[in-house]
Amino acid sequence: MHGKLARWLRILGYDTVYWSSDDEGLLDFASRTGRVLLTSDVELHRAALKRNLRSVLLPLEGVEVQLARVALYVSAHEGIDPRSFLEPEATRCSLCNGELVPKAENLWECVACGQRYWEGSHWRRIESTLRRALELALSSGRVAVADSGNER
Ligand SMILES: [Zn+2]
Repeated sequence: MHGKLARWLRILGYDTVYWSSDDEGLLDFASRTGRVLLTSDVELHRAALKRNLRSVLLPLEGVEVQLARVALYVSAHEGIDPRSFLEPEATRCSLCNGELVPKAENLWECVACGQRYWEGSHWRRIESTLRRALELALSSGRVAVADSGNER
């Protein structure tokens, strides 16, 4: 999986494990925990599918494209709208995946590593990356089809 993408998925509030050791261990872990594998390794992706694991093959570069690809997968398989998938949520530490607890207005702290987060100037950059990812996801025909069924 991708370290940078892992941090982004945590910003979105998703329980995300970054795996940096062996492929066999990764496949076992994904199988045991029912997690979705995100990888750019075609061989690993194929091995995961062969074991009936959920796996998404991602481009090697470009976190916006990667996020859009994950949003499309989640939309197709879980019926979650890309707009809500790509909405940031202050619930998870982007460094260690620990749980965030509110400390004050617009201030959160990680219960696991103590890292503090606040809505500062970096927030605008976060929002613009997510907006770009959403545009990419919505420009795909598959999502347009999924959307028309979910229109309120
Ligand atoms: Zn943390």
